[in-house]
Amino acid sequence: MPTETFEFQVEARQLLQLMIHSVYSNKEVFLRELVSNASDALDKLRLEKLRDDSLDADVSDLHIEIDIDKEARTLTVRDNGIGMSYDEVGQLIGTIANSGTATFLKELKEAQDEAGAEGLIGQFGVGFYSGFMAADEMTLVTRRAGESQGTRWTSRGESTYTLETVADAPQGTSVTLHLKPADPDNQLHDYTSPWKIREIVKRYSDFITWPIRMVPEPADGDSTPEPETLNSMKALWARSRDEVSDDEYHELYKHISHDWREPLETIRLQAEGTFEYQSLLFIPSHAPHDLFTRDFKRGVQLYVKRVFIMDDCEALLPPYLRFVKGVVDAADLSLNVSREILQQDRHIRMMQRRLTKKVLSTVKDFMTKDADRYATFWREFGTVLKEGLLTDTENRDAILAVASFATTHADDEPTTLAQYVERMKDGQDDIYYITGESRQSIENSPHMEAFRAKGIEVLLLTDGVDEVWVDAVGEYEGKQLRSIAKGEIDLDGKGDEKAGEEREKQAEEYAGLLGWMRERLEEDIKEVRLSARLTVSPACVVSDAHDLTPALENMYRAMGQEVPRTKRILELNPGHPLVKGLHQAYEASEDRTELAESAELLHTLAVLAEGGQPKDPARFVKLVADRLERTL
Ligand code: ADP
Repeated sequence: MPTETFEFQVEARQLLQLMIHSVYSNKEVFLRELVSNASDALDKLRLEKLRDDSLDADVSDLHIEIDIDKEARTLTVRDNGIGMSYDEVGQLIGTIANSGTATFLKELKEAQDEAGAEGLIGQFGVGFYSGFMAADEMTLVTRRAGESQGTRWTSRGESTYTLETVADAPQGTSVTLHLKPADPDNQLHDYTSPWKIREIVKRYSDFITWPIRMVPEPADGDSTPEPETLNSMKALWARSRDEVSDDEYHELYKHISHDWREPLETIRLQAEGTFEYQSLLFIPSHAPHDLFTRDFKRGVQLYVKRVFIMDDCEALLPPYLRFVKGVVDAADLSLNVSREILQQDRHIRMMQRRLTKKVLSTVKDFMTKDADRYATFWREFGTVLKEGLLTDTENRDAILAVASFATTHADDEPTTLAQYVERMKDGQDDIYYITGESRQSIENSPHMEAFRAKGIEVLLLTDGVDEVWVDAVGEYEGKQLRSIAKGEIDLDGKGDEKAGEEREKQAEEYAGLLGWMRERLEEDIKEVRLSARLTVSPACVVSDAHDLTPALENMYRAMGQEVPRTKRILELNPGHPLVKGLHQAYEASEDRTELAESAELLHTLAVLAEGGQPKDPARFVKLVADRLERTL
């Protein structure tokens, strides 16, 4: 096959431009990325061979090799791992499949300055392409284990790359960088210097479980020198805490997460006895962009006695901890273990329980010992952790204990439920909350009026999942969780007989109007009643205590489920002039065409006030415009 030239996909081209112009200051990390890919390729080959012994591949001396050539100014990273087929090279190296990358590039365009761009690159990590920070041309030669022909890929990182088949490629992959001239002022060092390579490998890749060898250039007249192994290969999770520096842990995190930033916390956990395992878990410092997408890869890596078995092992942690990265190395599992078997395995389930508790207790520690770290954690992962309130009843209390919520008590300090309970007023039995799209819209909603007037604290819940967990959880320490937009709220009715009597009298007076309005608004409203929760607004809509809220209804519909439309309750404020006026007009007149329009408008206003949409916006606008016109 002749050499063919291909265009990079648009996103890939943008990313490459960035690498070439290299806004990332720490350029030497390209070597970490290439070594990390090589190490993955060796893991994959060992596993494939384990599963299929007939695979025609040599696994006798799996390793990574770094060659430098001072004269030609090249650096080559070579592995004898799984390799790639011709098609795979085009797919994996020519395009960017990662769903987060598109978001990344969009943000990058918006980031005006270099500092912003640098932060963003660190956030995503760019793997193979980072080679272009140090090289003006890259060549990759690869042969997939078991296949006979190899593939050569070359590119100068501009708009195109070439592909050709090669007959004599060894198994695995070699990546050769044609290095740019060294430019120490811009953090571009001389990567043909053996001591520099030693230093970089030691710093970033010491824990890689495969030997990373370097063959020094022969001095004149010498025979071929012995290769030197640059890394210790000690699995970090098997070493004791005081032998390993934080930086080393962080480099392992970067290798397995493809995140270039430091993690928020490293968690070590070891178990001895009948089912022995060692684990290192990391809580990232930032939520990945695709955390809430269906194809988000979750789970930690599973090893069996230092042998890599699988990525994204979802049996080890529950879905709501899917952001946790790390390694679990179990001693007593078969190397051939499958995902299905893991899901069923009793020991794995016990391990999952223990890891889960450990992560939750770590978050609890943040909370009690390090407020800033807790705040970062909750900002990044609070939403996903709350999913656990629905799915993990065993740890519900532990999750509630570390949860915090926006509150009317303070503008930017969230509160825990325990703190809320401590502040509850005498005679207040329930924990009040309201759900909605944004703090602003719910804080100003009419439902809040009586609470504001009486200084009663309300939790402001704005995540989609909040709509659901509050119902599932129901109470905290014997205090009911109550939506202020549901059911009857009477903050002074209880224990205040006079107020109660007054309200009854009013209800009798208004009975005619209320019944008539209910008929007029029958399509949307199942009851019209006087309100004890309004002090300023004329009206609001509320749900029955056990009804679905409009947001939940929408959520179910978005998921494709059929849900009947729930009719709501319209509450009127008898102290409001508009409502008083309606009442008088109702009592006085027989012709109620005007009045019917007013009722309809009042209902729509109530819907708007809680952040909802008018059912028929055009009609609403017309009715309002007609009325405005009459006032001119
Ligand atoms: P990432 O490693 O984050 O997936 P890269 O751009 O570094 O992104 O690599 C893209 C893909 O190319 C890898 O996921 C892997 O499938 C393949 N690849 C890269 N380097 C190698 C290698 N040395 N051997 C085999 N496959 C490789």
